[in-house]
Amino acid sequence: MAARIIDGKQVAKDMREELKAKVATLKEKGIVPGLAVILVGEDPASRSYVSAKEKACEEIGIYSDDNRLPADISQEELMAVVEEKNNDPKINGILVQLPLPGSLDESEVLLAIDPAKDVDGFHPMNVGKMIVGEKSFLPCTPHGVVQLLARSGVEVDGAHVVVVGRSNIVGKPVANMLSQKKENANATVTLCHTRTKDMAHFTKQADIIIAAAGRPNTITADMVKDGVVVIDVGVNRVEDATRKRGYRLVGDVDFDAVKEKASLITPVPGGVGPMTITMLLYNTVESAENS
Ligand code: NAP
Repeated sequence: MAARIIDGKQVAKDMREELKAKVATLKEKGIVPGLAVILVGEDPASRSYVSAKEKACEEIGIYSDDNRLPADISQEELMAVVEEKNNDPKINGILVQLPLPGSLDESEVLLAIDPAKDVDGFHPMNVGKMIVGEKSFLPCTPHGVVQLLARSGVEVDGAHVVVVGRSNIVGKPVANMLSQKKENANATVTLCHTRTKDMAHFTKQADIIIAAAGRPNTITADMVKDGVVVIDVGVNRVEDATRKRGYRLVGDVDFDAVKEKASLITPVPGGVGPMTITMLLYNTVESAENS
């Protein structure tokens, strides 16, 4: 039986409507949530991510403070911009678009962001709070995965979740969030990576697979059991001469074959992607509410 497709665009749209209503309530109290976006250099992919974030802010009524800085900015100058945003009461969230040019010390910059404005959830203070189960800003893509599962009615409690990939921005946090003793979690989690021996042994036992490897066809139909729920975080370019731009985007999962065995599956694009920016908006609104 073919899987039901999880429509990430629709879930993101629903969440943005909820956030729009929260922003309207805050505005009645004279509070306008503000997000400072800091982009260093001219990287086209980063520019387009930043534009999408700014547009999403405008759509739901968040004030977007656009800071486009030259690639040759010094570490001191960049740190001064972060400090200025830390002290600006109009700003509730600060986002430094990564990667930074190689001459800059990324971790020093991220560490300088006030944890109360760290809406990306990458500051070690927020990572630590997440791990011990305290309230904190949750990193956007993993939190988007948790929301997709919850809003699609997937029972995570007691499920065996296999996460493929152990990066600090996706694999490790999503594994941690789903194993917390709380609502929309309580899963038994197995974390796989390139040193995992016989990964199919684990994925075949999974009730839920979260693929975040960044490699096409990491998960194939022979690696999953019937009825599995599959969340594909991967975004990979593969050559496609039939497309005007010469490539198309695919996930980490062999979608066409796996969807015949799965009960639920996310497409790429249109699955996890739309949730990432939504969760950034969510954190910014939450920060404004906290303030
Ligand atoms: P990353 O930093 O490159 O990490 C990839 C992880 O996958 C590593 O832990 C690696 O293991 C593991 N891995 C790679 N190939 C594997 C294989 N064949 N079998 C098992 N494990 C394998 O990537 P990332 O930043 O986490 O991103 C992962 C994917 O998600 C990328 O395609 C990225 O574009 C996408 N992404 C999407 C969004 C979104 O909004 N949709 C957001 C963030 C990322 P080792 O640690 O052993 O090397």
